[in-house]
Amino acid sequence: MRLTAFTDISLRIVMRLAVADGEEQPTTRSVAEVLAVPYTHAAKAVARLSEMGLVDTRRGRGGGLRLTEAGRRASVGAIVRALEGDGDVAGCEDAVPCPLRAACRLRGALARAREAFYASLDPITVDDLVAEPTGPMLIDLLPPRVSAGGPSGTTPGGASGTEAGVVPGTTPGGASGTEADVVPGTPFEGSSEATPGVSSATV
Ligand code: SF4
Repeated sequence: MRLTAFTDISLRIVMRLAVADGEEQPTTRSVAEVLAVPYTHAAKAVARLSEMGLVDTRRGRGGGLRLTEAGRRASVGAIVRALEGDGDVAGCEDAVPCPLRAACRLRGALARAREAFYASLDPITVDDLVAEPTGPMLIDLLPPRVSAGGPSGTTPGGASGTEAGVVPGTTPGGASGTEADVVPGTPFEGSSEATPGVSSATV
């Protein structure tokens, strides 16, 4: 059994937010960068996590993402259940349905196996996931910083993938930027944007 990319990215995001100190409110873009996931995918995951009450999003200057207390205490099993849904593990009801689906013992066995998988994650909280060694590693994944002269690839306005890049009005092309820049929508399975990393096309 393999998690969808949407669930995996969502869990990476809650882990990253779980190690943010009280002052830090990372942006969707900076989180996407340090976790090496496409921005649009991260934005959709943030939107879903916000709907679930696990992440607070605040727009504008000084805004950003914050894990809620409920998010910190959330069961990993509950999160995975919510994100993965209760569909069949195999393609029983695919576009070309399996002819055995009405009376298949394997289908029931796989459903029980899936539930056992979720149940094994139930006692684990998001906080548990960021104990050593994971937490310190996440803290070390700092976003790129803009020096006084600006690193290569950044503009004087710092609009290239930095925290400043998500402050409204700092991107000449209107790349939108509002921090919470969450794009409501469904999980991105099937999205054509499969290239890891954040490209300008995703801004
Ligand atoms: S054999 Fe059973 S589990 Fe496999 S696709 Fe068909 S109905 Fe589903």
